Amino acid sequence: MIVAIDGPAGAGKSTVARAVADRIGAAYLDTGAMYRALTLAALRRGLDPEDAGAVAELAAATSIELEPEADGALRVRVDDEDVTAAIRDAEVTASVSAVAAHGPVRERMVARQREILTRGGWVADGRDIGTTVAPDAEVKVFLTATLEARATRRADELGPDADRADVYEAVRVRDRLDTTRAESPLRRADDAHVIDSTDMSADEVVEAVIALAELAAETGERA
Ligand code: C5P
Repeated sequence: MIVAIDGPAGAGKSTVARAVADRIGAAYLDTGAMYRALTLAALRRGLDPEDAGAVAELAAATSIELEPEADGALRVRVDDEDVTAAIRDAEVTASVSAVAAHGPVRERMVARQREILTRGGWVADGRDIGTTVAPDAEVKVFLTATLEARATRRADELGPDADRADVYEAVRVRDRLDTTRAESPLRRADDAHVIDSTDMSADEVVEAVIALAELAAETGERA
């Protein structure tokens, strides 16, 4: 079974996806980590994130591996170097949407993601899982929340040193880039269940997604 969880930044996708994967005995695929890993590699080489040709060439030459840890988190390696922490840096976050907008980059990432998803059960989170990567996923969720709630969560994750106005602006800009790009922009698949997590705890969202997964498993049909 594939459970696809898409939505904007800060909606709680990765927390929920990890917890659901753990509960239903599936593996977790964080597709955002793949775009982040490529972005980090591009920045380290001094490439312009807007340079489609250079970034696509780098994507072809770079190995990105995601390895599950005992606690369900994913270890991320680029060309064998552990970059799990570095891909969360603010510079990477600020450039990742530009890197992810390039068609040839997406083609490569989507092909790799589909290959990963062919074997076993998965919970995958991202922006285009239900629309492009796995349009036949048994469960599709579009997880969203107000911009205010999402920015507040991101700032809380980053800690007391984070400037709330900066975080709000960064989330707003990333949303705009992700929803307006030409290649598989962030949008709800027509058959996705919308869950608005603004006033829900992570546990409540997890239970709602598990209920959909159980329904799909029982009926053998898409939930
Ligand atoms: O999920 P996360 O916030 O780590 O994703 C980082 C960025 O990667 C997103 O803002 C988006 O630009 C890109 N992304 C994407 N398609 C995906 C997952 C992430 O374009 N499936």
